[in-house]
Amino acid sequence: MMEAKEACGVFGVYAPGRSVAHLTFDGLFALQHRGQEAAGMAVSDGEAITVMKDMGLVTTVFDERKLSGLRGDMAIGHTRYSTAGKSDWMNAQPVFRGVGRAGFALAHNGNLTNTDALAETAGMLPGLVDSDSDLVAELLGQVFPPDAPERTREELAEDLETALTAVLPSVEGAFSFVLLDAERLIGVRDPNGFRPLCLGWLEPTDKFEEGWVLASESPALDVIGATFIRELEPGEMVIIDGKEVRSERPFPIERINPKLCIFEFVYFARPDSILYGNEVHGARRRMGQLLAAQKPVDADLVMGIPDSGVPAAEGYALGSGIPYGQGLVKNRYIGRTFIAPTQLERADGVRRKLNPLRDNIAGKRLIVVDDSIVRGTTTRAMVIMLREAGAREVHLRISSPPFQWPCYYGIDTPDKGELLASIKTLDEIVEFLDVDSLEYLTIQNLKTAIDAPGAGFCDACLTGTYPVPVPVPVELSARSPLGAVAAGTPA
Ligand code: SF4
Repeated sequence: MMEAKEACGVFGVYAPGRSVAHLTFDGLFALQHRGQEAAGMAVSDGEAITVMKDMGLVTTVFDERKLSGLRGDMAIGHTRYSTAGKSDWMNAQPVFRGVGRAGFALAHNGNLTNTDALAETAGMLPGLVDSDSDLVAELLGQVFPPDAPERTREELAEDLETALTAVLPSVEGAFSFVLLDAERLIGVRDPNGFRPLCLGWLEPTDKFEEGWVLASESPALDVIGATFIRELEPGEMVIIDGKEVRSERPFPIERINPKLCIFEFVYFARPDSILYGNEVHGARRRMGQLLAAQKPVDADLVMGIPDSGVPAAEGYALGSGIPYGQGLVKNRYIGRTFIAPTQLERADGVRRKLNPLRDNIAGKRLIVVDDSIVRGTTTRAMVIMLREAGAREVHLRISSPPFQWPCYYGIDTPDKGELLASIKTLDEIVEFLDVDSLEYLTIQNLKTAIDAPGAGFCDACLTGTYPVPVPVPVELSARSPLGAVAAGTPA
């Protein structure tokens, strides 16, 4: 059960005549799983940009009254987890910068890795930079020209593109940005493409001309009736205005090195998302099938930990021929992550979130499939729950390799010293979790399951190989208790 918090969700829509605020609300609602701490949107009517954001879920922050007051031709939106910066209103997004008579808004998914260097460039004290998204907005604002009343709005809008072209090459790390000013909507994906970003199209109707959409994940397109066109390429900037949809490459070619986060496939993305051309659900089922072949075990029932362990459990059952069944019921009104400040409360949180189906479990030898183990606290609590419900044996199967290194690219993970696979051997983990056996999917089988030949992945948290230098040292020389040797990029 993944205990790390997700990245963030970003959304943008250019659709003159339609209610862009309602479209953005629906898009953000489809991306709620990527961030549940804060939500916001910025709407442009061609004259002014209005930003509305607050702490809480999308449905808490916005209601019909607020949405109907947000009129315009385009909008961007954001759902947030605080991977960098405190979890407070100040750091909710989109970020807005007023520059002279113009202004722009920015929403960011990811984490920058050279914040200190960028802060110095911006003339900000590194220790006082609260959010890396705010830092990028500051850098863009400095390049954006000062008040120039004689200039047309179109010229000013072009200056946002000029500012992006000037600033983006100096930005390192993970970033999928959506931005807007008075005239246009812009999407940017970093040269490694750590975080997803896709482009969609709204068909023209009798009443409306065509529209364009940018979203972290394709279900946000589906929900507003947009057609999925394609994923943005790593290092691509797409500019959408009333005239055209244009693609630019603001980064040096040598920095383009596709490294989509492999955990998007394992856990973060919705199962109905399209990544690297494949639906995530199918990849998760194949992970389960390969896991079944990796270390067969005799058992009575295969069950998945809701929700993200379920497709892999179905695949495991298919691969092993052992019946699939439900063993735990999830309280559907609880958020995807129960946010609890201490390990003890986190363990209690499992009981609030999951409850066993005793008739299905009692006396059975169970194969329990989950997506990952981070600290192990929630997994341990879940195993206790299954044993108390009468499980005779618990064989734990994990549809990803051991999670041993922290993420610096937009996922809020604990320090290395808190990662179970980093501090215990396989036997010690079996003992700690009180399971009868444990098997992790190998990295080779994980990539086989994703089935995107030739595609590049970030797998730093599983292998210790960081594709972009990270801001704090990692223990590169340490041999993990599970046997993998870190070979990462020195900080
Ligand atoms: S370190 Fe892990 S979680 Fe972070 S981007 Fe890479 S694969 Fe994803």
